[in-house]
Amino acid sequence: MSENFVCDLPHGKKSIKIINRDKKVISGCTTRDHSIVIKDGKGCYLTDMEGRKYLDFGAGIAVMNVGHANPFVLAAIRKQANHMTHVGFADFYHELPVRFSETLVKTINSSNLNNVFLSNSGTEAVEAAYKCARWHTKKKFVIAFDHCFHGRTMGSLSMTNSKPVQRERYAPFLPVKHVPYPYWYRMKMEPEEASNFCLDKLEKTMRKTEAAALFMETIQGEGGYVVPPKSFVKGVRKLCNDHNILYCDDEVQSGGFRTGKFLAVENFSVMPDIVSMAKSIGGGLPLGATISSRKIMDWVPGSHSTTFGGNLVSCASGIAALDFMEKKKLGQNAQRIGKLMMKRLEEMKEQYEIIGDVRGIGLMIGIEIVKDKRSRAINSDGRDAIQCEVARRGMILLGAGKSVIRFCPPLVITNQQAEKGLDIFEGSVRKVG
Ligand code: PLP
Repeated sequence: MSENFVCDLPHGKKSIKIINRDKKVISGCTTRDHSIVIKDGKGCYLTDMEGRKYLDFGAGIAVMNVGHANPFVLAAIRKQANHMTHVGFADFYHELPVRFSETLVKTINSSNLNNVFLSNSGTEAVEAAYKCARWHTKKKFVIAFDHCFHGRTMGSLSMTNSKPVQRERYAPFLPVKHVPYPYWYRMKMEPEEASNFCLDKLEKTMRKTEAAALFMETIQGEGGYVVPPKSFVKGVRKLCNDHNILYCDDEVQSGGFRTGKFLAVENFSVMPDIVSMAKSIGGGLPLGATISSRKIMDWVPGSHSTTFGGNLVSCASGIAALDFMEKKKLGQNAQRIGKLMMKRLEEMKEQYEIIGDVRGIGLMIGIEIVKDKRSRAINSDGRDAIQCEVARRGMILLGAGKSVIRFCPPLVITNQQAEKGLDIFEGSVRKVG
């Protein structure tokens, strides 16, 4: 139907009509991997306009941790929507944003992360962390990593550099120094060697730069689901302490129990100074949160604000989502199913020449598709072909980086659904490879 899609499935009349209307009215910067028009979602499944069902391993880009159309979350949304939708939290007090923030802080459970700024998206949650760090330290520079993704508003975008198209024509940017991230598989180094190399570069940059903050995704998301060595994350914390630089942890994609722990950074036994969250904490509605201590969040009224932050329906949805994730122990499920998936994916790696690397924590798993194991050469066409074949067989997978497939299903996924997804994936790898 169009040459721009990674995956162009045959369509019925209903889908074609909507895609044609979309093309006329929706701005051209909107990206689409799939030419699928979704009608419905339930749990781990999506249904398209023609009634085809897809096992969803993308979860709306790691948003629907609680599963699509979660009845508990929908009931909370309906209840609040029947009552009142927006209060203007920048002008009035209201109990719901307070309750959401209390619930969030309680879930994080760290004495230094107890003050919350509410917004509407990931980029806003990062932007707030950026502005807060500059306000608090009165310094201009920040440090970010190569291949990172922090969002697309100008503060976040000044750090983001996972794909050239994200930055093209938008210079000048805010003052950011980029340093290497230990993507050891692509650096062709052992994990510890890559960790030492990157820490060394980081230290040199910190020595030369009066930086307010360092921004890091503990597990790089859009850049390719890259898991750093533990020594690296611990080293980053130490260097930030030594150089009096705020450690800002972007948990927009990795947070919300996706890695088993509420924050991915907890897997590395490290605690940051500022955390940015969005995606899963809204249970499917737009909700961003920037969390730090009262000491660091010493900005004054009006130094940062937003009309919709603390939206009542989003907060009601967020409270229900956090409650559901906690009560149903979705973190434990993510760990359990993640292990099961990693085991089978490791076996596939031994068997198929185009699977170069398998990495991940919990249900944040990246699979590196290569031309061959020896060269580790990037195989974007192979990756796209697998994504497409998988969709033909009734499953949604998203790409990341240049040649990575990500597994980020809803955390409510069952053993059978995980096995089914792995079967479809393996069948597709066999066909493409
Ligand atoms: N930070 C990370 C780590 C992300 O993965 C994303 C989005 O994918 C963002 C920030 C930006 O979030 P949003 O698209 O909600 O602005």
